[in-house]
Amino acid sequence: MEIYDHPTFRMACQQFDLVADRLQILENERARLKFPKRSMTVALPIRCDDGSVQVFSGYRVQHHLTLGPTKGGLRYHPDVTLGEVAALAMWMSWKCALTGLPYGGAKGGISCDPRALSKGELERLTRRYTQEMIPFIGPQIDVMAPDLGTNEQTMAWIMDTYSMHTGYTVPSIVTGKPVALGGSLGRRESTGRGVAYLINRAMDTVGMNAGEATAVVQGFGNVGSVTAFSLAKYGVKVVAVSDAFGGLFNANGINLWELEKFVAETKSVVGFKEADPISNERLLELKCDILVPAALERQITEKNAAKIQCRILAEAANGPTTPEADAILEQRPEIFIIPDILCNAGGVIVSYFEWVQDLQSFFWTETEVMDKLFRILEHAFTQTLTMSRKEKIAMRLAALSLGIKRVQEAKKIRGLFP
Ligand code: GLU
Repeated sequence: MEIYDHPTFRMACQQFDLVADRLQILENERARLKFPKRSMTVALPIRCDDGSVQVFSGYRVQHHLTLGPTKGGLRYHPDVTLGEVAALAMWMSWKCALTGLPYGGAKGGISCDPRALSKGELERLTRRYTQEMIPFIGPQIDVMAPDLGTNEQTMAWIMDTYSMHTGYTVPSIVTGKPVALGGSLGRRESTGRGVAYLINRAMDTVGMNAGEATAVVQGFGNVGSVTAFSLAKYGVKVVAVSDAFGGLFNANGINLWELEKFVAETKSVVGFKEADPISNERLLELKCDILVPAALERQITEKNAAKIQCRILAEAANGPTTPEADAILEQRPEIFIIPDILCNAGGVIVSYFEWVQDLQSFFWTETEVMDKLFRILEHAFTQTLTMSRKEKIAMRLAALSLGIKRVQEAKKIRGLFP
């Protein structure tokens, strides 16, 4: 399966192999569980505003179709490759299984810099991508959602393109769309609020008082910013935040409400006056109680794992910690890790609620959504913690084991076709 070769895919495979060894999964079952069921690569020509034609590469990977449709985000970023998308799709599978959602994992992406494209160019790119994907997606086949570099507007364009093709409105083709088009209340905030909920549970577990705790958040996009605000509401002092361009630090706490206004105007946290500048690398090594990587994969590596100085590591991003870093962190029992597939699962859980509401054309209140979200997260957190303590294994190994085992069992019961 060389087509997927990429450091992030190798990392996802390394994690899988560790779990497979632990669960003693037979050799002939491993490849079936590991490699994606389907992958699509498409060339996307669009007319740019200056009249030129540019061709972008787009991908969609559907990891397994055993438990229902596949589910996962669509990422717009210059570094997107087939291998990265395949790793992210695999993690979506374990995340959905861990939280009991009737989905396999998927992920898509377009290799582009969304900041360098106009709104019109982004719309044409999204519509062209959707058009190319029409044979492979559907409410019962594969359902997309926002990820890095995409948002509600992107989902609205996908829904419109797909609906024009079918000839009637199909809200259930995507989740994370605007509420005005059948989106769910609370979906936009769900990932960040879920992260903060789990941090709160972790604080109870390790005996930390929110009112005395400090937090550092890497990434100030949808997930990082909502997490920061939710933590502040719990009484936690957020002392540092960052984005792709750089970070900010203020030992007395950052005024998030002022920062939000600044970011709305300048599109970056960099240059905000009421804090000192700090690099993304240094930010991860700051002394704090709660560290939240909420940006890209492979941020905590063998180079900096020994230097991080937090009590709770809450992985809001997908794959922020490499297996080499995990080996170092295992020697540091003072750090409590909320692993990514649990920590950021709030997003896909509310995506599931959105899909269910769309299929039934029956919509819930925000309180109902949040209440159901926290129940699922609570259950997954308790199960993971119980397994981790009982079997004396890391939280990540416990979460992955629970997820992978469920997919393995489902595959076994269905049998091999033909
Ligand atoms: N992109 C998000 C994730 O990585 C959400 C996926 C979804 O809602 O389908 O979990």
